[in-house]
Amino acid sequence: QTVFLSGATGYIAQHIVKQLLDSKKFKIIGSVRSEDKANALAKNFNNNPDLSFVYVKDVSDPVAFDEAFKEHGSKLDYVIHSASPFHFDVSDVNEDLIVPAKVGSAGIFKASVKYAPNLKHFVVTSSYAAIMDILKETDNTYHLNEKSWNPMPFEQAVTNPLFGYCYSKKVAEQTVWDLSKELNAKFNITAVNPVYVFGPQCFDSSVTKVLNTSCEIVNKFVHSTPETEVDESIKGSYIDVRDIARAHIEPLLDSDKFNGKRLLMDGGRFGNQAIVDVLNTIPQLKGKIAVGTPHRDDNITKDLAVIDNTETKKLLDFEFINLEKTIKDTALQVLKVEGRL
Ligand code: NDP
Repeated sequence: QTVFLSGATGYIAQHIVKQLLDSKKFKIIGSVRSEDKANALAKNFNNNPDLSFVYVKDVSDPVAFDEAFKEHGSKLDYVIHSASPFHFDVSDVNEDLIVPAKVGSAGIFKASVKYAPNLKHFVVTSSYAAIMDILKETDNTYHLNEKSWNPMPFEQAVTNPLFGYCYSKKVAEQTVWDLSKELNAKFNITAVNPVYVFGPQCFDSSVTKVLNTSCEIVNKFVHSTPETEVDESIKGSYIDVRDIARAHIEPLLDSDKFNGKRLLMDGGRFGNQAIVDVLNTIPQLKGKIAVGTPHRDDNITKDLAVIDNTETKKLLDFEFINLEKTIKDTALQVLKVEGRL
């Protein structure tokens, strides 16, 4: 069984690679942007022969995936599309976030239909950003579930990078569902829609001064001082990266059960204060980092939009890792790499 995984170097994708290899059921062809990145990843996985690479430099090119799929399409059983820009440091919201997300999704989906005749299942890494109404996140009368869609129009989305990122995920996922009808795709499809993803990097070597966008929220407080303010800029939901990887793989193991589903991967609500409260239980950090107003976020759920992901939990049938563990594991890896444990 062969899986094509786009963006194999990503934070989430590396965990997907690890779990796929650990299961010993799959061969993986990962798309990466450069040879250096491929070599580093191969080395981390001990040059496992079940992991190979193709180069896809920029998913903004509509035919970026064609060459790889022409060569490998006939042996593919599964595609996981994870490559997409996730950062807010952009000069042009449309060009830097929305275009690559949308064109990337369309490109890999069309290549799958055209060149992968034996494909059984296509999994797209979408996001809670494709589900939520960001303007109603603090409206506790607003209810969301697996059927909800981000309603923001393009004109408003391009006014700032956060709105733009959310729109990019919505349009990337929508493209997959639309094309599946338009092109009469013969394979099954699942979207995985994570909230903020935390948890350790797959390898210690990925722990750099600044981490990937979601883990940097935790890392910032690991490197805070007692004077650092704990503001209310983040009011969201958390989920652990190991659970996200698992949610990408379960549909491959039971394809029909997950066909047409969106997995709303939400472990619970949190804010910056909740992160800081967990970090302060780590002896190496206590007294050295921000304190804020302890327990200010304990009842944060009641102030935010109501997320109902009962269907997702039923489909997946495993317990999600809790906030304490996901934050602790993120921080402890950073401390280990910095020689502070
Ligand atoms: P990373 O930034 O670690 O991974 C992004 C991956 O996409 C990298 O492999 C990156 O390659 C690749 N990529 C980005 N832009 C391009 C491009 N233009 N052309 C080719 N490849 C590109 O982030 P995550 O692992 O967190 O994100 C993975 C997916 O999960 C994304 O689709 C993201 O939207 C989604 N997601 C993440 C959440 C989170 O909290 N982390 C929450 C919800 C969804 P390179 O490393 O070479 O830049």
